[in-house]
Amino acid sequence: MKKLRDRILKDGKCYSGGILKVDSFINHQMDPNLMKEVAVEFIRRFASTEINKILTIEASGIAPAIMTGFLMNLPVVFAKKKKPSTMEKMITTTVHSFTKDRDYSVCISQDYLTPDDKILFIDDFLAYGNAAKGVIDLVRQSGAQLVGMGFIIEKAFQHGGDFLRNAGIHVESLAIIESLDNCEIKIREE
Ligand code: 5GP
Repeated sequence: MKKLRDRILKDGKCYSGGILKVDSFINHQMDPNLMKEVAVEFIRRFASTEINKILTIEASGIAPAIMTGFLMNLPVVFAKKKKPSTMEKMITTTVHSFTKDRDYSVCISQDYLTPDDKILFIDDFLAYGNAAKGVIDLVRQSGAQLVGMGFIIEKAFQHGGDFLRNAGIHVESLAIIESLDNCEIKIREE
């Protein structure tokens, strides 16, 4: 997605440890027009896939997920990082965060993830694929079907995408970062 690639090159900031900051348009301040175009692109790429629900993880996946759900007229559910004491029929999994270097649990109620659901998972970043693996586990526990995973930005050099594609999952990433070596952002041309 050219507009996204150009924006990353213009406003993205590189940090040591292979971290890309996009706080001025995705992760802190958000650009709703770009987010809408991101959602339109997800819809185009998953046009031939039957989907009845969008799933994400709080917090940074919610913006692209709600925009996609709004335009597709589908419900959006987010997995929570804190276990609410009132949640019924909770399923949980553990995810390792490499940006924060710690494990955390994510949970979701089976009221909102059911065996009838055909799930498109949407998130901001795909790095090592740990969050995605957690989602795969939640979907498996619920009996729902995972029909695709869409990421705004994939960091190819951390190989989460290889794992997911090798597992036969339909993965779409709108900008693929080849390298952040020497704090230079290299993005794959489509
Ligand atoms: P993974 O689980 O694939 O290793 O990492 C995905 C999650 O970690 C994303 O949901 C995102 O919140 C966070 N993340 C991973 N890499 C980056 C990065 O370079 N920049 C930012 N802003 N978040 C990242």
